[in-house]
Amino acid sequence: MNVRSVRGTHDILPGSVELWQEIEEKTRLLFRRYGYGEIRTPVLEETNLFCRSLGLETDIVQKEMYTIPARRGRDISLRPEGTAPVVRSYLENHLNRGSGLTKLYYVGPMFRRERPQKGRYRQFHQIGAEVLGSDHPGIEAEVMEMLHVLLDDLGVRGVRLLVNSVGCPSCRPAYVRILQERLLAESDLCADCRKRSRRNPLRVLDCKQASCSPVIDNLPSILDHLCRECRDHFRRFREFLDLIGVSYSVTPRLVRGLDYYVRTTFEMVTDRLGPTQNALLGGGRYDGLSELLEGPPAQGFGFGLGLERLVLLLSRNDQLAAGYRSPRPEIFFAYLNEDSLEKAFTLARDLRREGIFAYLDFGGRSLRAQMRLANRLGSRFVCVIGDDEIRTGLYSIKRMADGTQTRLQQGRISRHVRSA
Ligand SMILES: [Zn+2]
Ligand SMILES: [Zn+2]
Repeated sequence: MNVRSVRGTHDILPGSVELWQEIEEKTRLLFRRYGYGEIRTPVLEETNLFCRSLGLETDIVQKEMYTIPARRGRDISLRPEGTAPVVRSYLENHLNRGSGLTKLYYVGPMFRRERPQKGRYRQFHQIGAEVLGSDHPGIEAEVMEMLHVLLDDLGVRGVRLLVNSVGCPSCRPAYVRILQERLLAESDLCADCRKRSRRNPLRVLDCKQASCSPVIDNLPSILDHLCRECRDHFRRFREFLDLIGVSYSVTPRLVRGLDYYVRTTFEMVTDRLGPTQNALLGGGRYDGLSELLEGPPAQGFGFGLGLERLVLLLSRNDQLAAGYRSPRPEIFFAYLNEDSLEKAFTLARDLRREGIFAYLDFGGRSLRAQMRLANRLGSRFVCVIGDDEIRTGLYSIKRMADGTQTRLQQGRISRHVRSA
């Protein structure tokens, strides 16, 4: 076949999609308990939204966005992340009106032109949540707790929480200057980091190149340069985590790549996905984002979780994977000719209305081949319809597990299937 899926995208097929559905259902149930409402923003946004929010110096804006040049008016892009669209919608729809806190979550695809590799795609999917309207560290700890419960519910083990503070506009610039002076004097940095040293020195801290590690380990820590307010905030955040028994490691290198983060940043990581993509989810506080979008001041805190990575983790959990077989028909209708097909057709319809999974084959198979198919699908009951059944109105229902046959009137089939 000549037409193939686009590089870096993937189909989610029956047999795998059940795991996705399970994750999404558990997420919706849990997030509702914490007061989050679902928001669905468009996949297309004005390119400007991401230039302003993420910052022009980020990899995402510089080289990873799928942008459609405008013939007239403004360029639009496929969204590379979920926070900026949510904040854009929050401002545009005045979701702040009347209530203190606004809690929103989303589930959906994001798009980045990255080099595809296992577990990393150009169309990937995220679950994310945003709390708007509070700068209290307690709400941050509440989000950590919610994520812990979610991962626990899903059976994800061995995830570690890393936390840091990236300061605020009153303390970070001084630290960045110190960092930059140190970095510009270093000769052992990778080419990317030499560029970053000039344009966005903070980003050097999350360089994954082994050669940069020794240099980074010896750089001054941002935690030694926080203002009093940022220090207090970070201390309170950790006190709340202690209070609810969520363990964490303080990781001064954790700055996240995006310009809009202030104060608390965090990641949840696992060693089970290999060294280059150990982050399962991450996020932080972005109090200045609303103003970057020319909105009124609005404190915000949120995270994004990579669904592909989560699915990859969970499908290695054999027990769980075994639970996600495609569903077995409760009753399979086999038929001899076009007349009995019509009867089977209406019987199947009636049973489906009663909530039963009734299967009908349209492959033009012989009766014997239909029986083989019923077996292969793991059908629990089979009902063969011929002229006798239509004439007498009595249907013979065979339980596949032990071969027992029961003759029943039409109206009694569903109860029989249910009770077995
Ligand atoms: Zn500060
Ligand atoms: Zn580097």
